[in-house]
Amino acid sequence: MPRRKSSYSQLAIVDRNGEADEPIAKKDRSLDFGGRWNYAPALEANNYIKLRDRYQLFINGRFVAPKSGEYFDSINPATEEKLAEIGSANEKDVDLAVKAARRAYKNVWSKMRGRERGKYLFRIARLIQEKARELAVLETMDGGKTIKESRDIDLPLVAAHFFYYAGWADKLEYAFPGRKAQPLGVAGQIIPWNFPLLMAAWKLAPALACGNTCVLKPAETTSSTALHLAQILQEAELPDGVVNILTGAGETGSALVNHADIDKIAFTGSTEVGKRIASATAGTKKKLTLELGGKAANIIFEDAAIDQAVEGIIAGIYFNQGHVCCAGSRLFVQESVFSNVIRKLRDRISTLRLGNPLDKNTDIGAINSRVQLDRICELVDSGLKQGAQLVQARARLPAKGFWYPPCFFTGVTASHRVAQEEVFEPVLSVMTFRTPEEAIARANNTPYGLSAGVWTDKGSKIFKIVSQLRAGVVWANTYNKFDPSSPFGGYKESGFGREGGRHGLLPYLMLS
Ligand code: NAP
Ligand code: MG
Repeated sequence: MPRRKSSYSQLAIVDRNGEADEPIAKKDRSLDFGGRWNYAPALEANNYIKLRDRYQLFINGRFVAPKSGEYFDSINPATEEKLAEIGSANEKDVDLAVKAARRAYKNVWSKMRGRERGKYLFRIARLIQEKARELAVLETMDGGKTIKESRDIDLPLVAAHFFYYAGWADKLEYAFPGRKAQPLGVAGQIIPWNFPLLMAAWKLAPALACGNTCVLKPAETTSSTALHLAQILQEAELPDGVVNILTGAGETGSALVNHADIDKIAFTGSTEVGKRIASATAGTKKKLTLELGGKAANIIFEDAAIDQAVEGIIAGIYFNQGHVCCAGSRLFVQESVFSNVIRKLRDRISTLRLGNPLDKNTDIGAINSRVQLDRICELVDSGLKQGAQLVQARARLPAKGFWYPPCFFTGVTASHRVAQEEVFEPVLSVMTFRTPEEAIARANNTPYGLSAGVWTDKGSKIFKIVSQLRAGVVWANTYNKFDPSSPFGGYKESGFGREGGRHGLLPYLMLS
C-alpha cells in the first residue's frame, strides 16, 4: 500500500555549530526514526468554514465599512494564502465606536442589573461552546497555531472565561464586602496575536460583568476570529454598542489610546508599546492596566522527576511555537543533572512534529507572521555570534509559510541577548546553577517578571523558592496551566494589574 504523505515533517537533530555532536540519530539507533514515527495524516476538516471575502468594522451592533475605505489582507501563515480582507479603522471610526460605547454605557449597560448582564454573558459563553470547533479551526488558519492548542486549550478557556465572569456580574457587592463597586465607563482594549480569542475573552468578560462598555482592537495579523465573535455577540442580542470591534494596525490602537472619552485602557502586548501607552495616558483620567512581555525561568533541581520536568519544559515552550508571553524560554538546570536533562531534551525535540497546524498530530505549527520569523532568526543569529551553542531540530520545512524548527542554546551567559530579550519563539536558553540561592538570583536577573516554573521533589523547597521569585505566576512541577478563577499578571517590566479571578474585576471598577 503506498504510504500516505503526512502533513507534518519529522524532525532530526543537528548541531548548527557543527563541533561537539554528530546528529543524535547516528549515535543512538533508537532515535533513528526511519518512518517508524510517521502517523497517517489526521487533518481537521475546514471545508465548512465560511470566511467572508471582506470583514467590516463592528460598531454599534452592526458591521460597517471603514471611513478610510482601506482594507488589509489577512493571510494564513502556514500557506501564505489570503483568507480575507479586513477593514482598517482610522480616527473617525475610533470616534464613532467610542461614541456608540458611551451611549450604550449611559442608556443601557450601566443601568442594567448585574443579574441581567450576567445572562448575556452566559449566553455568549454557550454560543462560543456551540461554535467551538469552527472557531478553533479559524484560529488555527488565521494565526498558525496548532489545532491541538486552539481546540483543546484556547477555546475551552475562552468559554470558561465568559462563564466565570457571568457568575460575578450579580455578585460584585460580595466580591468587595462593605464597599460600593461601580463601573468605570468605556474601556479601550488592545490585544496581541498569540491568543486572539482568549485575549479578547480576558478583556471583554470582566469589563462587561462589571458594567463597562468596550472598544476592542485585535492584532492586525489575527483579526478574523474577533469578527466572528462579533457575529456571536449579535446572535446573543447583546445591546448595540456594548462591544465594538475595530480592526487595524498600531495606529488604530494609538487612536483608541488617545481618544479623550475613554475611561480605561487595558493593553496586552509588548513592553515597548506598553511603555508608549503608559506615557500617552499619564496625566489623563484614564485608568491603565498593562500585560506585557516575559522571559520566564524554569528551574530544575537535581531531585526533580526529570522526565516529567523535561516534558513540562517542552510543552511550555515548543508546543505553542514559544509564542506565549509566559513561555519558559530560560531553563536553569542544577549542574549534577545537566547532561541528563540535555540528553532528554534533545531526544524529545527530535520526536516533535512540525507542519500543517490543522493536522491533529502536529506539535509545532507556523510562526504567526514573516515579521515575527525575521525577529526570531535575528535573535538566534545573535546567540550564535555571542558564542552560545545551538542544538536545533532540522526539519524539511514546508515550501510555503513561516516556520522555525525548535531549538535550544547551551553555553549561554546572563549577558547574552538570548538570555535577556523576549524571544517569543521555540528557542530555549539552557543554563546551569549549583545552589538554590544562585538559581533564584539568576532567575530574577531579568527586567521581566511574568512567570516562572520550579521542578523539585521537595514541597518545602517549592515554597522557599516560589516566595523569592519575582514573577506574577509560578508553577510548581507543571507549567502553563490556566484557569479563569486564577489571577494572572506581571512584576517589573511585565506590567501591572491582574486578569482572571476576583482580582480581574478590580481594573474595571471604582470602589468607594
Ligand atoms: P505589540 O506589537 O505590542 O502589539 C499588541 C497590540 O498593540 C496589537 O493589537 C498592536 O496592533 C497594537 N499596537 C501596536 N502599536 C501600538 C501603539 N502605538 N498604540 C496602541 N496599540 C498599538 O505586541 P505583539 O508583538 O503583537 O504581541 C506580542 C507581545 O505580547 C509579547 O511581548 C508578549 O509577551 C506580549 N503578551 C503579553 C501577555 C501578558 O499577559 N502579559 C499575553 C500575551 C502576549 P498591530 O497588531 O496592528 O501591530
Ligand atoms: Mg492571519
